[in-house]
Amino acid sequence: MRPARALIDLEALRHNYRLARRLGGGRALAVVKADAYGHGAVRCAAALEPEADGFAVACIEEALVLREAGIRKPILLLEGFFEASELPLLLEHDLWTVVHAPWQVEALEHTPLPRPLRVWLKLDSGMHRVGIDAAAYADTWRRLQALPHVEVAVKMSHFARADELDCARTAQQLATFAEATAGLGGQTSICNSPALLGWPDARADWARPGLMLYGVSPFAQAHALAAQLHPVMTLESKVIAVRELPAGEPVGYGARFVTEAPTRIGVVAMGYADGYPQFAVNGTPVAIDGRPGRLAGRVSMDMLTVDLTDHPQAGVGSRVELWGNQVPAGEVVAHSQTSTYRLLCAVKRVPLEYRG
Ligand SMILES: *Cc1c(COP(=O)(O)O)cnc(C)c1O
Repeated sequence: MRPARALIDLEALRHNYRLARRLGGGRALAVVKADAYGHGAVRCAAALEPEADGFAVACIEEALVLREAGIRKPILLLEGFFEASELPLLLEHDLWTVVHAPWQVEALEHTPLPRPLRVWLKLDSGMHRVGIDAAAYADTWRRLQALPHVEVAVKMSHFARADELDCARTAQQLATFAEATAGLGGQTSICNSPALLGWPDARADWARPGLMLYGVSPFAQAHALAAQLHPVMTLESKVIAVRELPAGEPVGYGARFVTEAPTRIGVVAMGYADGYPQFAVNGTPVAIDGRPGRLAGRVSMDMLTVDLTDHPQAGVGSRVELWGNQVPAGEVVAHSQTSTYRLLCAVKRVPLEYRG
């Protein structure tokens, strides 16, 4: 069997959820969209279900996968519904929906439902992606409140730059939110992971942690609270071949790495088709049998190469960690043209093995 795999530590996931919930000071929806950022939505949701207040996914398709697997806690659709015909299905499966656009408000007005549907009304407080304009927000809230088949429950918004801890924009978005929602009642939800960790003023009734649940810091720099997270995924494989090369020899596609001295190269069964970043540079950290090592040469589809010169004990069968407990995902990202979010979401083909 190919030795490439992703170990998923569900106890670490629960630890991170508890930290998120404690920081938020209220309730927390565990964001498990995009197959739980590559960690497997069903297994992650099942592991969190006994203690989670609920879950958030992007769309009804993702929610139904969880319902079919027996997840019973509330599930919020972060992009809401895409057409009015989905609305009865939302009720049937007990889903909550974000409403972020005027056409969705009109659809609700024109679609009577047998029971109230729970709605989170999203404000565009400055990110300018989705959300109701600040000037129209209070009016829209009241229009929804007037509908017997809608229970408009939570005022929400989303930050564009909460991961930049010295950026004034986040405070501006908060001020816009306070002004646009003043006097409306209902509950509040603003925080994603970087806001929960870095912007205490944004904490409110409901948090929406995603990335931090998986134990990865949303910040490029060191951060005391983010340091308390436990990595959930360990991506690992093994050395499957070794080359002893003299100085001046190229390694791999495009000869991006050329040996400067006699060099031992280890070939690892892991490539960009498994989700390892194709554009990781020479020197990107790995761990070889638990010791720091580095990538040498361009990543191929199914294999990559590491420098074993300083690892005389290592050989065929040695364990190589690509990221996880020994190699923070953020360090791999710092050497690749990607983000921590995309790094995790990109994992595929490798089997996910669960512990805890
Ligand atoms: C994805 C998402 C989140 C979670 O964001 P993280 O940065 O991963 O914590 C929260 N809210 C909304 C609206 C989202 O789309």
